Amino acid sequence: MKKFRYDTSGTWYKGNTHAHSTLSDGGLSPQELGAMYEKAGFDFLFRTDHWISSNEPETNDPNRLLWINGIEIDGPDPDGSNYHVVCLGNFTGLTREMGLKAGIESALRQNGLIILAHPHWMGNTLDDAIKYPFHGVEVYNHVCRWSNGKSDGAFVWDSMLIQGRNVLGFASDDTHGGNCWHGGWIVVNAKSRTVDEIMSAIRAGNYYSSCGPDFHKIEFDGQQVHVETSPVSAIRLVGPRGEGKRLGNCENNTITHGTFEIPPNWSYARLEIEDEPGRRAWSNTLLV
Ligand SMILES: [Zn+2]
Ligand SMILES: [Zn+2]
Repeated sequence: MKKFRYDTSGTWYKGNTHAHSTLSDGGLSPQELGAMYEKAGFDFLFRTDHWISSNEPETNDPNRLLWINGIEIDGPDPDGSNYHVVCLGNFTGLTREMGLKAGIESALRQNGLIILAHPHWMGNTLDDAIKYPFHGVEVYNHVCRWSNGKSDGAFVWDSMLIQGRNVLGFASDDTHGGNCWHGGWIVVNAKSRTVDEIMSAIRAGNYYSSCGPDFHKIEFDGQQVHVETSPVSAIRLVGPRGEGKRLGNCENNTITHGTFEIPPNWSYARLEIEDEPGRRAWSNTLLV
């Protein structure tokens, strides 16, 4: 029997899971990066420099940005498939010399959460996506949007979901400097803003990804899912293949709540909302 994934009775915390500093190929120092996100009202930030594990001390000052550790590893695997993989967690001993496959294995042994980064931009195939036990995939990557438009991972995500993989979606900035950021983020629902609470909410998928609109509530009464959102043009329940339900129309009417029955014959269902400028937000799959 599947269980409802969400518990949105805690507090929403906004953060970015993918950012680079001058320690790899970013243009801002970690301090400058942190100050930029803090000023924009972000609650937490992962620094994910290429092959450089971040090692930020945990600070629990409620007025300051919460740093959480991570790394991005990249390169070809032994079959010649090229990957970028964002790993969330604390890591030691990950080096470019060990190569991508050994890097993934080491990150998993260290209890890391591994995310297939920007699969569209990488040219990853579905075979690439299911070759390793990724916990998540980037449904949106803001830097890739601006670099060549190849920012969207929803096709790969849905292809993984239809194969029965419990994979999370992540919208991220992948910031490399100060001029292309705050375009994709996640909003986590957690009891408090500590590294442990935020990480366990992310692992549980108790968050949504967004490029603009917000989910305020995602609740289930055993039969129907009830959603409250910021003003949007559409609220969609997205199922496998062509399955889907939609509230809202194409005539600029805004809605802020909706109720759906989740068809028992759908192998998965996730929510998607879209605002008037066309910016989307995505829930994770609702039942796990
Ligand atoms: Zn990358
Ligand atoms: Zn990156």
